[in-house]
Amino acid sequence: MILGVVEHDRGRLEERSLEMLTLGRRLAHELGRPLHAVLVGEEARPLAARLPAFGVSAVHVAGDARLREYAPGAWARTVAALVEAERPAAVLAAGTDRGNEVMAHVAAMRSLPMAANCTEVQPGDAYLVTRLRWGGSLLEEARLSGAVKLLTVAPHAVPAEEAPVPGPPVVHELAPAFTEADLRVRVTGRIEAARGGISLTDARVVISGGRGVGSPEGFKALEELARLLNAAVGCSRVATSLGWRPHADQVGQTGTRIAPELYIACGVSGAIQHMVGCKGAKRILAINTDPEAPILAKADYAVIGDLHAVLPALADAVRKAKGG
Ligand code: FAD
Repeated sequence: MILGVVEHDRGRLEERSLEMLTLGRRLAHELGRPLHAVLVGEEARPLAARLPAFGVSAVHVAGDARLREYAPGAWARTVAALVEAERPAAVLAAGTDRGNEVMAHVAAMRSLPMAANCTEVQPGDAYLVTRLRWGGSLLEEARLSGAVKLLTVAPHAVPAEEAPVPGPPVVHELAPAFTEADLRVRVTGRIEAARGGISLTDARVVISGGRGVGSPEGFKALEELARLLNAAVGCSRVATSLGWRPHADQVGQTGTRIAPELYIACGVSGAIQHMVGCKGAKRILAINTDPEAPILAKADYAVIGDLHAVLPALADAVRKAKGG
């Protein structure tokens, strides 16, 4: 079988896992094998019901109460024990921070090679994988060998597509396979970011501000337009480094990667490290005073002008269009 490690945070599904299952299902189909999933933590148990819609025929659930919070070593030990018992042909996880972390631990525990951030997989004796390198600016083709192939799927590289299997999944209970030592690294407390509205990764429209916004107060114009468009507000690293916005808002290589329908970049120059975070956007509108700004080469639409004048005008136009 092919095994997908389905990621969640206290029972909330990481949607990138559905992209991973879509690639996993294609691989399973090519190899003529079933697709199974593993859920670590009791909170995740209800997610089992969602997985047959993505081709999963059996779900392995590790419901130990100590797995309430994310603990990479314990998650990995659970997956590694399942690998030992079931000998899947391949194990996949989403190429998120957590997915890559857990799979790297599994690889070390089982002395297996692992390929991170894959966009395509062709099975064979060794799998031929295409994967994102250097923050997505390079595509690498690699051969992945090993008795069990471990790989993660680059976020937004494979659209999540349903292909239901009939009937509910078969659920297998997993006995705990980890020790206290595997819980050394775990989440022990949380400080929630003060963020209202929709998240950067879910928003259909994201409006980002860079150095050109000029100050924390300058973001009010972005927030107003975001309110009208039901959008999320993001930013460049300069805006976080200057303390204008929290890091949770940062788009890019060292921030969040997003794939909205529309990305509005205001006073953002378009550095490569920023663009890898928004290259999944369907359309990019750049608002910039500099007609030579690199972002203009990537933008579908551009307004050459001062964002402090353009944004209020845009907000007015949206209000009028909405009849208010
Ligand atoms: P600038 O490059 O200074 O651009 C400001 C832009 O605003 C200019 O184009 C200017 O013409 C325009 N402007 C000025 N005033 C106005 C105005 N009134 N109206 C309209 N336009 C105006 N960056 C990220 O964003 N995300 C990352 O995750 C990230 N990761 C990094 C990782 C590494 C390892 C490194 C080395 C760098 C990383 N960076 C990242 C930083 C990146 O290289 C750039 O420095 C950064 O993106 C630039 O931010 P900016 O576009 O806001 O600022």
